[in-house]
Amino acid sequence: MPKPGFKSITVAEQVYDKFHEIYSENRIALAMKGVNSFAGYVTYKMEEMMEKDRVFAKYAPRMERVSMDDDRVILKDNAQDRIIEVSIEEGEPYCQFCEKWDCPHIGFVWSIPDVYEALDARGVKKH
Ligand SMILES: [Zn+2]
Repeated sequence: MPKPGFKSITVAEQVYDKFHEIYSENRIALAMKGVNSFAGYVTYKMEEMMEKDRVFAKYAPRMERVSMDDDRVILKDNAQDRIIEVSIEEGEPYCQFCEKWDCPHIGFVWSIPDVYEALDARGVKKH
């Protein structure tokens, strides 16, 4: 039984193993973010996912992803009825439309799961 204030869930062994493998490989980097246990890692990933879903749900009716290549993401802003280019400048996303490093378009870019993965894998930073 989990201790008071905690609940346990059951997942397939393959799911557990996959998460545990990634946790083990990234243990040092995670410790620097304050994640010091496997349970802490799973909690951190769940919170990250919920935050991304929340941001995506906020923007999704307004914006659509059009395409992505090595150094830019093209979006359609339905509210403005415009095509928006977010380019990667000096390792950070920059909105060519707003001429800003931080705007709803960039928030939306980070909330698209595969775009997030691709940018994160290339070391692109959030401003
Ligand atoms: Zn913008």
